This record gives sequence, C-alpha cells and structure tokens, in this order.
Amino acid sequence: MENLKNNFDVIVVGAGTGGSTAARFAAEKGLKVCLIDRKEKNKIGDKICGDAVGTDVFDFLSIKHPKGEELSCRIKGAKLYSPDLKKCIDLTDSKQAGYIVNRIEFGQRLLNEALDAGVEQFMDKTMVLDLLYNKNFVAGVKVKLKNGEKIDLKSKILIDASGFYSPIRKNVKSDLIEKEILKEDSILCYREIVKFSPQDLSVKDPEYISICLNSEKAPGGYIWYFPKNESSVNIGLGIFMDYKGKVKNLYQQNVFKEYIKTSKFEIISSGGGVVPVRRPIWSCADDGIMLIGDAACQVNPLHGGGIDPSMRGGFFAANTALAAIEKEDYSINALWGYNYSVMTSFGAEFASLDLLRMTLQVLSNTDLNFALQQDLLSGEEILEISSTGRIDLSLLNLVTKAFKGLSKPNLLLDLNFLRIKMNEISKLYKNFPNDIVKFEEWKSKVTQVYDKIKKTLIKTKIVN
Ligand SMILES: Cc1cc2nc3c(=O)[nH]c(=O)nc-3n(C[C@H](O)[C@H](O)[C@H](O)COP(=O)(O)OP(=O)(O)OC[C@H]3O[C@@H](n4cnc5c(N)ncnc54)[C@H](O)[C@@H]3O)c2cc1C
Repeated sequence: MENLKNNFDVIVVGAGTGGSTAARFAAEKGLKVCLIDRKEKNKIGDKICGDAVGTDVFDFLSIKHPKGEELSCRIKGAKLYSPDLKKCIDLTDSKQAGYIVNRIEFGQRLLNEALDAGVEQFMDKTMVLDLLYNKNFVAGVKVKLKNGEKIDLKSKILIDASGFYSPIRKNVKSDLIEKEILKEDSILCYREIVKFSPQDLSVKDPEYISICLNSEKAPGGYIWYFPKNESSVNIGLGIFMDYKGKVKNLYQQNVFKEYIKTSKFEIISSGGGVVPVRRPIWSCADDGIMLIGDAACQVNPLHGGGIDPSMRGGFFAANTALAAIEKEDYSINALWGYNYSVMTSFGAEFASLDLLRMTLQVLSNTDLNFALQQDLLSGEEILEISSTGRIDLSLLNLVTKAFKGLSKPNLLLDLNFLRIKMNEISKLYKNFPNDIVKFEEWKSKVTQVYDKIKKTLIKTKIVN
C-alpha cells in the first residue's frame, strides 16, 4: 500500500477502551503514534459487554463524561442479592454511581478523540501477526494489511491493548510477562440485550444494576441484570470456564426463564466472551513493550469490570512512554514506572479483591445466604472492600460478628483470615518495588500469601 509510514515512537495494538486511551494521551504528548485494529473503523467499540462504567475514571483522566448518544442511562448504585433472593444489600454511594453506555458509540468517541489528538497513522482492518525484535528488545510488529499484504512496522515502544486473547502476550519472549492465563482465573460470560414492548414496564429498578450471587445457577461468577434504558435490559451470567459449550443453556435455564417474565420482548443482541478475573499479570512490561487492559489482566476480579482500568492503564502507559522516549531508553528499567503506577494503584485493589473472588467461588449457596442474611458484611463494608480492596473492621465489630457467626464457625474463621490476607496483599502491592532489582523478593512474598489462601480454601472445600 502506498504512503504508509513504518517507523513510530509508539505503536498501539488494539483500539478498544484501553488502546484508544493510550493512543490519545501518547499523541497529545506529541509522540508519533500508530494505532492498529483488526476491525473496520466503524465497528470499533462494538463489544459484548455489560456496558457499565463508574463515573470516577472520567474525572481521573479529565475527559468528558458519557453523554448524548453514548449514554444509555445513569446508575445510582448496585443491589447485591443472596442466592435465595431473600436478602438484598443496597450498595449506593456517590463513588459507585455510574453509567450504562452504548458500547459502540462510546468506543467510537474514544477512537475519534485519539485521532483528533494527533495519532499519526490509524490502520483499521489490519491484523497484527507477530512481534519484531532488535536484539532482545521488542521493536515493532508484523501486520497483515486489509489488501492481504504483510509488512513490518517499527516502534520504539509497543503498547499491547489487544484484549484477553492477545497474540502479542502469547508470542513475547520474556521471563517477566506471563504468556498463559489459567483457566481458573478467567470467567466465561454470556449476555443478551432484551427489549420489552413500550407499554410493558418490565425493567425492574431502572436506576440500579443488580447482581445475584448463586453458586448453583452461576457457578464461579454471578447473574447480572443491568437496565439499558426504560424499555430494555442487559442481562447475563458469568461462570467457570469448565462450562464452555454450556453457557448459553445455563443462561436460558437459570437467567432468562427466571428474570424475564413477559412474553412481549425482542432480543436485540446476544453473545459471549471471556474476562480475566485475577490480579494484573506479574509484570505488565519488558524491554520495548507495555501491556494494558484485558491483555494484562487489568480487570476488577470481583465484578469483571475492565473498562475503567483499561483506560487508566492506557493513561499510565502513555505517560511512561513519553518519559522513556525523552530519555531514549526503552529498556524495562525505563518502563518499570508503568508497572509501579499500575501495581500501587488499582493493582493493589485488584490483588486484594482477587483473594476475595477466590474465596467467594468456593462458598456454597448455603454459606452465601448465611453470610448475606446475617449481615456479616454491611453495605458500607462491601462498598469499602470493592472500592479499596481493604476491610477495616473494628475489634468490637469483629466480636459482634463472631457471635452472629457461631452457627457457621468455619466460614467465620475463613472470613477473618481472608480479611488479614487481603490487607496484607494490598500493603505489599502498595509497596511495589520502584526498582526491578527487588522484584523477585517482592514476588515471592506475594506468592506466599496466595499459597496460604489457596491451602485454606482447599481445606474449606473439604470441611464444607
Ligand atoms: C460479557 C462481558 C461483559 C462485560 N461487562 C463489563 C461491564 O459491564 N463493565 C466493564 O467495565 N467491563 C465489562 N467487561 C470487560 C470489558 O469489556 C473489558 O475489560 C474491556 O473492554 C477491556 O478493554 P481492552 O481495551 O483491554 O480490550 P478490548 O476492548 O477487547 O479491545 C481489544 C481490541 O484489540 C483488537 N485486536 C485484537 N487482536 C488484534 C490483532 N491481532 N490485531 C489487531 N487488532 C486486534 C480488537 O479488535 C479490539 O478492538 C465485560 C466483558 C464481557 C466479555
């Protein structure tokens, strides 16, 4: 193809929420950016998703909040239901307010803002096939253009934002970056957007997103019921990967039949996808490369929300790229600051929530009903945990809870142990080494916490 440039400061692979944000901030800082996506330009942003995003990230990045076509509806908060639906915990506070976006319009806005910020070359319908190397440094990508031609594009720094199935993460030659994401650290999702007839006021609680825990109907995950607008809902479930091939059946049996009570509806969209639900990969960078969003497991392990962290990751990566390019140093030492920003901010929260996620996944419906009905955790405490990854219960509070929990002593002991470990891991991440030299020592401390939790969970499973 004629007139294609092939040498850039930064190449961003993937123009989803993470990639478009990274490209925008890198271009705004004056870097020469190439943004690549395999999709056609007008399909970018079209993703099977719950479409929920909090208000925080827009303030954090100082960018426009969703409005107009992009915005489906505003959300006041969340409601968390016990498996038997007898207990509902209201999770409403200003920090949990948010939006349900029209995913494609939202994605198109982020893309257009990146292009307006000065992305030098945008390449749609272009498939990234592999990495290029200069000695041990990532130095660009091999791509297949829309006309089928294969070419090489060179970068000083490559930003991988190509999502959960990232071909880059799988092919990167690195001892720091994990290539495979374990099956038990991922969740399979399926959802439909169901539109009711205009006269039919079937949308329940239109200002809240509803989440139902149920280890039998949605093993390993949860059922969600999110309003889309006054006449439609986004409804679906997330489950363990072992249920591959059965997710649609489970959805129809356990979700659709139970929650859609009218016969007058139209299914506007349906489909599934996979979400990583673990702490970010050990290192989100190596020589000449940074990974952001789903490619780097930057997703909230508790609820699977990845729009917000992918955008923060993009912002951090763009800042680090600028600093590295100014110093003309693209080594992991120069890019380490990106890891530092991720791990000490949402990484700390996600590592802590990862432990909570692993624990919730082994609890039976009886345990979940018990924990929610006995108010072992209040709405405020759940909000505190989900927004900070920490549980700070006063001693008095714990003793009161201990009495309440007498009929289930094992569960209570586990929850207290979990609380200690969540706080411990959050602290470890907040103290992420700012120098790679101390990384292995840090990693071994984190691994010890995980091993302890895993051992306890195995015991819990046997005891229950
Ligand atoms: C069913 C479901 C429901 C969800 N609900 C929510 C929710 O309610 N709220 C929330 O915050 N998050 C939700 N998530 C998670 C959220 O969608 C992701 O975490 C988020 O989109 C991550 O963005 P990203 O930029 O990392 O990746 P993506 O948005 O996946 O973007 C990756 C981009 O890379 C491109 N690409 C991939 N491979 C190549 C290649 N080889 N060459 C060129 N381009 C390539 C793709 O075309 C795509 O545009 C949900 C996910 C699923 C599956």
